[in-house]
Amino acid sequence: MKKIWNNDLNKEYLEKEVTVYGWVSRLRNLGGVIFVDLKDRSGLVQLVFRPDTKVYEKAETLKNEYCLKVTGQVALREKANPNLATGEIEINVLKLDILSKSRELPFEIKDDTNALEDTRLKYRYLDLRRNYLQTKLITRHKIMMAIRNFLDKEDFVEVETPILCKSTPEGARDYLVPSRINKGAFYALPQSPQLFKQLLMVGGMEKYFQIARCFRDEDLRADRQPEFTQVDLEMSFVNEDDVMALTEKLVAYIFKTVKNIDLKLPLMKMTYNEAMAKYGSDKPDLRFAIPIIDLEYLFKDTNIEFMKNNLAQGKIINGLILKNKAAKYSRKEIDKLTEFVKNYQVGGLAYLKYEDELTGSISKLLTDEEKNSIIKSLELEKNDLVFIVSDNYKQTKEALGALRLKLAKENDLINKDDYKLLWVTDFPAFEWSEEEQRFTAMHHPFTSPKDEDIDKLLNDKANCYSKAYDIVINGYEAGGGSIRIHDEEVQEKMFAALELTEEDIKEKFGFFVEALKYGTPPHGGLALGLDRLTMLLTNTDNIRDVIAFPKTASASDLMSNCPSQVDKKQLVDLGLKID
Ligand code: ASP
Repeated sequence: MKKIWNNDLNKEYLEKEVTVYGWVSRLRNLGGVIFVDLKDRSGLVQLVFRPDTKVYEKAETLKNEYCLKVTGQVALREKANPNLATGEIEINVLKLDILSKSRELPFEIKDDTNALEDTRLKYRYLDLRRNYLQTKLITRHKIMMAIRNFLDKEDFVEVETPILCKSTPEGARDYLVPSRINKGAFYALPQSPQLFKQLLMVGGMEKYFQIARCFRDEDLRADRQPEFTQVDLEMSFVNEDDVMALTEKLVAYIFKTVKNIDLKLPLMKMTYNEAMAKYGSDKPDLRFAIPIIDLEYLFKDTNIEFMKNNLAQGKIINGLILKNKAAKYSRKEIDKLTEFVKNYQVGGLAYLKYEDELTGSISKLLTDEEKNSIIKSLELEKNDLVFIVSDNYKQTKEALGALRLKLAKENDLINKDDYKLLWVTDFPAFEWSEEEQRFTAMHHPFTSPKDEDIDKLLNDKANCYSKAYDIVINGYEAGGGSIRIHDEEVQEKMFAALELTEEDIKEKFGFFVEALKYGTPPHGGLALGLDRLTMLLTNTDNIRDVIAFPKTASASDLMSNCPSQVDKKQLVDLGLKID
């Protein structure tokens, strides 16, 4: 077994004979001495093969990515390489074992590769030899270790829950597994261990966690994978504040252990309604300012036709101020932003520039008095730019929320090393689904409504709020959870509110409602997205960077060619027929 990591070699080893293992990362044969950078998981060390040694001839046959065992004497380098941890020393090789050769590589293995991602995914095992990916997987491991250590000390028990589960409606589409023994029946892969963790609370475990794999058969967005990992928690005898306090201590512990970053606790809390009003998002990025501001009061006596009409119809007028950038935005640039906000179903984008005077799309329609009042009320300074949207509440907020992010990115207002965390609380219990023309659960059907809203479950869903909370990091939902319903009557009411038929409830959730009848403790929990957390802590936007063997956006594994056809016999065994 290997005794020493490459990166541990330093001047303390001078003159000593060492044996190292690894892969040929870079070869320089200058027609005399042959230099090889030998790479292992820890880093690089320079090997030197001199023409007067027995190993020289063999060294001449070396190629990139050959796997070697090397014995040699540590020596001081003539010229140190300050960019390398082992840069002061090299190894004069006395013995060389080629453990395994490598054929011609499909792409060059180096950190700043420009090989196509598809090629790298096909040869993922070669891609994984890059330090870039290895450090990310190591950070992921450290995060998992920190989680286990922290939660163990807090008396949590790690419990595994089934992968072959019952298919339940609501949420995303299930991955199904046909049953051979019960032909025509199916298991589903878990979208999350939600029901099981609640049943563990009924089972008296009190504090549970699991680093759980979850499966959702959705059309994949860039940052999604069909299977992903959640840090899943559940606790009995807790309220919202208890779960949030425990979770933020856990997150702070992870940040400290993995990145040596001290988070300031308690984290800030913001209600869902406040987040939507101020940032147009339930996961606001607070690394930069630019809040959304209400502007109706400035236009209440306006002659601007569309605004007048909009106000009469109960629509809103909101805006954003971009400080000191008016000169940067030409008409053409602003046209591009107009097209951008229209994707959010708003009528358009008005703007005002404050240079020597107030100019911009609606300036001609403003009286001098109105102009002065705008400059004064918004405390505009020279070169400020105001963007204005007027439409329905939700669309206006979402459009400005997206514009806010775009402007911050375009103007480099985000400090990439900054971490801004907060809780978003008091989510609506339901959201209206245009597609289904009915209210669906905003989180999941087991989320407890606020005590004062239980009576609204059936007749005032739009104003019914829940005991749900999300932890947001740098504009991403890093996790979310809720206090659960532990009363069978409330749970049944919730199912009814979601328009599940008696039959559905019995068939899909009967076992669960039954469990609630046997002394269920009040409980709640949350799940953190491990992939997202790792992405945030390793500064990557690519989810595939933090998963050893990821799938593509079309949910396939290019390395093993999966999903794939199966033998006819397998189908027959399962009683399946493919058209
Ligand atoms: N099971 C939930 C989810 O997957 C998280 C929770 O409520 O604990 O989003």
